Amino acid sequence: MVNGTGDRIRSVRERMSGAASASGRDPGDVALVAVTKTRTLQEIEDALLSGCIDYVGENRVQEAEMKRPQWSGATRTPWRLIGHLQRNKARKALSLFDAVDSIDSFDLASTLQRILEEQGENRILPVMVEVNTSGEASKHGVLPEEAEPLLASILGSCPLLRCDGLMTVGPLSDEERVVRNAFRSLRTLRDSLSDRLHVAIGELSMGMSGDFEWAIKEGSTMVRIGSALFGPRVIAESPGR
Ligand SMILES: *Cc1c(COP(=O)(O)O)cnc(C)c1O
Repeated sequence: MVNGTGDRIRSVRERMSGAASASGRDPGDVALVAVTKTRTLQEIEDALLSGCIDYVGENRVQEAEMKRPQWSGATRTPWRLIGHLQRNKARKALSLFDAVDSIDSFDLASTLQRILEEQGENRILPVMVEVNTSGEASKHGVLPEEAEPLLASILGSCPLLRCDGLMTVGPLSDEERVVRNAFRSLRTLRDSLSDRLHVAIGELSMGMSGDFEWAIKEGSTMVRIGSALFGPRVIAESPGR
C-alpha cells in the first residue's frame, strides 16, 4: 500500500489489541475511526481497502462536503461527524454523515430531530453526547454535570435520535495519570447515566493518536485516529510556509 499506510494501520491495530488484552478486554470491542481531515480521497480509499477501518471520521461539514459526493463508494464504511456542528449546517450534515458524535446542546439535537421529521424517511440518527472532561476552555462539549439533563431531554423529545454513547477529547497533557483520569471520568459518567436514565449508552468514543492505548485501558469502545494512521498532518495555512 502507498506511503506505508498499510503498515501504520497494522501497527495501530496491534497496539489497540495489546492495550485491550492488557486490560482484560476483547480487542473486538474497540472500533477504529480513521480521522481523515486534510487527507485526500485517495489516502482515505487506500486506508479503507485495508479492511481494518470501521468508520471514517471528519471534523468539518465543509470538508466532508468536498469529499463525500466524490466518494466512489469503494466501501460501505459509515462516516461520522466528530467535530463541532453549527445548527445552520445541520441539514447538510445529515446529508453527508451517518452519525453525529459531537452533540453539545439541546438546540442542536432538536434541530436535527426537526429536520429528520420533515424529511419523513423514518431515519434514526445515531448520536453521541460530547463531554468536556478536561475543563480546558478550548474544548467543545458539555460539562460533565450538564450531560444528564441534555441526555434526558434528547431521550424525552428527540425520538429520531438514538444516543449510543459519550465522546470526549482527552486533555493536552503527556501525563498518563492526568489523561487517564479524564477518560475514567467519562466511563464513570456513562455508567451512572445508564443507571439513572435506564438507557443503554454503551459507547465511549475516546482516544486519539497520542493517547488511544490509555483510553482503551479506561474502557474506550471507539478510538479516533488520524496521524498515527496517515502520518503527520501538514497544516497548509500555518505561518511561514
Ligand atoms: C483530529 C482529531 C482526531 C485525531 O487526531 P490525531 O491526533 O491525528 O489522531 C480525533 N478526534 C478529533 C475530534 C479530532 O479533531
